[in-house]
Formats: sequence, structure tokens, C-alpha cells
Amino acid sequence: MADFWDDVRQIAKEVVAPFKGLATVAAKLSEKKTTISYPEFRRPMGVRSRWRHVLNRYDNGMEKCIGCSLCAGACPSNAILVVADENSNVARFSPGERYARRYEINMIRCIYCGFCQEACPTGAIELKDVFELASDTRKSLIYTKEMLLVPDPNRERVD
Ligand code: SF4
Ligand code: SF4
Repeated sequence: MADFWDDVRQIAKEVVAPFKGLATVAAKLSEKKTTISYPEFRRPMGVRSRWRHVLNRYDNGMEKCIGCSLCAGACPSNAILVVADENSNVARFSPGERYARRYEINMIRCIYCGFCQEACPTGAIELKDVFELASDTRKSLIYTKEMLLVPDPNRERVD
């Protein structure tokens, strides 16, 4: 007799199961939609998002980077290359004695830990919220100083 009632309970569960599933679907249908038409619209990223790096400038256009290589030393992936050079009165790029003549980040190696940003004494290197970094060539994922440096605010755009 116990077997009979076990079978009845099992059949009842199986009959009810699809209706429970439909009830879940109905509840979801009435929820506010969260689909976003990317890339026309981008969901705001969290304030602590760490994606593409930039090299910042001061308001007067001078580069904040002084070529000290602390970022390269802090990088656990060995992704940063800094080649420093001396500023001079005829060619001055940063307020300090030195500037980064060459600055590269290998974005294939980067793990977006932000240690470079933490180590930088001048706030030159910063990880921003731009995450569209895909590329189909390795070479294009070596970001050069020219690619990383933000535009000079004192130079008019020509485009
Ligand atoms: S975010 Fe981390 S891994 Fe990427 S360059 Fe900076 S220190 Fe290196
Ligand atoms: S980005 Fe900052 S830590 Fe790296 S070389 Fe420039 S000033 Fe030094």
C-alpha cells in the first residue's frame, strides 16, 4: 500500500512541475527588462573598474610620467617597458629631470591588477573603464606611449 501512495506522490510532483516552471517564467516576464543595446549604449562601469591604461598629463599639457620605472618594477606580469631620458630646456616633456622616452604595455601579459597605478608616484598611469580591447594581432596589443598618452588639452584638435 505504501508503494501505491509513493507512486501517487511522484506522479503528482511530475504533473505540478511544468506549472511551477511556467509560474517562474510568468514572474520573470513581468520584471523590468535589463537588455542594453550595446555598443550604442554602455552600462556604467563600477567606480573601481580596471581596464585600459592611460598616461595622464598635467593641465598645462606636461606629461605626468617621469620615467622612474616604479610601475614596471611593481608589475607582476613583466608587462611594462619604460626607457627614460633627460629633459632639457629645449626639449621638455615632464616637469622633472626625466621623462619616459619609450613607454609600452604588453596588454596580452597584463592581468589588470592595478599595481602599476598604485606604484606610480605622480598619478601618471591609470586604469580606466574602457574594456573593448580585443584585437586579432599580437603587435597591436603592445600599447605604445603614443597610444597611451591622453591628448594635450592645450592643443586644438584638427579633425
Ligand atoms: S595592471 Fe598589473 S599586470 Fe597590468 S601592467 Fe599594471 S601592474 Fe602590470
Ligand atoms: S607611469 Fe608612473 S611609475 Fe611608471 S615610469 Fe611613469 S611616473 Fe614612474
